[in-house]
Amino acid sequence: MQTNPFDDDKLHEECGIFGIFGTSDAAANTVLGLHALQHRGQEAAGIVAYNEGRFNSHRALGHVAPNFSSEKVIRELPGDSAIGHVRYSTSGGTLLRNVQPIYADLELGGIALAHNGNLTNARHIRDELVAKGSIFQSTMDTEVITHLVALSRKTTVVDRVVDALKQVEGAYALVALTPKKLIGVRDPWGVRPLVLGNLKGAPILASETCALDIMGADFVRDVEPGELIVIDAEGIHSHHPFPPVQRRFCIFEYIYFARPDSQVEGLSVYESRKRIGAELARLNPVDADVVIPVPDSGVPAAIGYAAESKIPFELGIIRNHYVGRTFIEPTDQIRHLGVKLKHNANRAYIEGKRVILVDDSIVRGTTSTKIVEMVRDAGAKEVHMRIASPPTTHSCFYGVDTPERGKLLAATHTIEEMTKFIKADSLAFLDMAGLYRAMGKPARDPLKPAFCDACFSGDYPIGLTDEVNRGTRGPRQLTLLAETA
Ligand code: 5GP
Ligand code: MG
Repeated sequence: MQTNPFDDDKLHEECGIFGIFGTSDAAANTVLGLHALQHRGQEAAGIVAYNEGRFNSHRALGHVAPNFSSEKVIRELPGDSAIGHVRYSTSGGTLLRNVQPIYADLELGGIALAHNGNLTNARHIRDELVAKGSIFQSTMDTEVITHLVALSRKTTVVDRVVDALKQVEGAYALVALTPKKLIGVRDPWGVRPLVLGNLKGAPILASETCALDIMGADFVRDVEPGELIVIDAEGIHSHHPFPPVQRRFCIFEYIYFARPDSQVEGLSVYESRKRIGAELARLNPVDADVVIPVPDSGVPAAIGYAAESKIPFELGIIRNHYVGRTFIEPTDQIRHLGVKLKHNANRAYIEGKRVILVDDSIVRGTTSTKIVEMVRDAGAKEVHMRIASPPTTHSCFYGVDTPERGKLLAATHTIEEMTKFIKADSLAFLDMAGLYRAMGKPARDPLKPAFCDACFSGDYPIGLTDEVNRGTRGPRQLTLLAETA
C-alpha cells in the first residue's frame, strides 16, 4: 500500500505507445507491440480495446509478458481496435491509477489516450481547471489533455483533440482510440517518435519500428512532426493542424533510448551508435589493449570505437538480463545495488590489460563508478572511460527521466573532477560537433539545431511554463488517497 503524498514534480516519464485498427487480433497484437517496446518503460502497462459499443481495459504494474500473455487477459479484450502503453516513471507515481491508457467517457463518446512525452504546462493548466471545479483522477500530465478534450466546444472528436493539443506545451507522441477511429499525433517539434505501419491491411501506430517487426508488419513511414493521423473505416487521413516549427527530434533517442534494431526518422539507431563510437575514437583516442562496452547500451558505440581505433573488442563485462534498467529502482541505495546485480566482469579479458570502457552516457555517475571499480577489481592495469555523448549537463523536461540538475554529475563537476569521482585513469566525452557529424549533419546550427539536444546544451526548444512557475511559486504537493496496488 502506498500512503505517501507525492508531488508531481516527479512525473517526467519515457514511455512506449502502440495502436492498431481493423484486425480481429487487436489486443493480442498490441501485447506483442508493447512487448517489443518494453525497453521504453518497465513499470506498468495497459491496453484498451474497443468492441461493439464497449471499451475494455486491462492494466498492470510490471512487465508486459507476465501480465498480458495469458489467454484469459486477451479474451477480456475483444474487438478489432486497441491501443496500449508501457510506462516508465520515477518514484512516487507507481499507482494503478497512473497507468495508461487513460479512458474517459465524454459528451461525444468514449476516448482512450496513451502518451509518450511530457507536457511542460500541465501543472499550470491543471491548477486552472481545478480552480474551476475539474476533478482529476490521476497525477499524470496526460489527464490534462482528456479534460481539455472534454471542455472543447468543437463539433467532432478530432477537432476537440486538436483544440486540446493547441493549449498544451511540451513533447508528445499520442495514440487515441474512439469507437470509430484510431488517432495518432506528434507534437509540432516531433520530439518523441511515432511510426505508421501496416499488418496485412490493418494500420498500426507505434513508438518504434521494432514493434512492427515483432509481428511481421510493414513499416510505412514516420508520422511527421505536427502531423495528426486519423485512421477509420474509410482509410488513413493526414492533417497538419499546428503552425510549422523547426523539427527537433530527441537526439538522446539515438544515443540511449530507442532499440538498436529500430529505424528512427530514416536512420538506423544501431548504425548511428556505431558512427558515434567512431567519432568518439577519433576525438578521444587512447593507447590500450581492449575496448569493452558497458552492456547493453554501450555496445554499438563500443563496436564503432573498436573498429575506428583498431583495438580489439571484447565482451569484458557480462550483463544479467533479469535485472531491469537501473534507473527504475526508487532509492539511491537500491540503485547502487541494482548496478552490482546487473553486471559482472569477464576476468580473463580484463586481467593485466589496459581497458577502454565505452558507455552511452553518464547521468548521476553511479554506473561508471561501479563499473570502473569492478574492472579494476578484475585486474585491469588501466581504465579509460569513454562516453558516447556530450556531458549531460541539463535535465530533460520532454519525457526522458533525467534527474534534477543538481544530481547530474556533469552539471556540478568538471571533467577532471568527474574522472576522480568515477576513479578512472582518464575520462572523455564526445563533443556536440562529433555527435552531429555522426547523425549525418555537417555541423550543429546554433540558431536551428536539427535535434533537441537540451540535455547537453540547455537549449530548450519548447516553453517550460511549469518550470518557470515553480521558480516563482515553489513546488506544490498533490495529496493522493492511499491505494493498494
Ligand atoms: P548513471 O549511472 O551515471 O546515473 O547513469 C548512466 C547509465 O544509465 C548509463 O549506463 C545509461 O545507459 C543509463 N541511462 C542513461 N539515461 C537513462 C535514462 O533516461 N533512463 C534509464 N533507465 N537509464 C538511462
Ligand atoms: Mg547503460
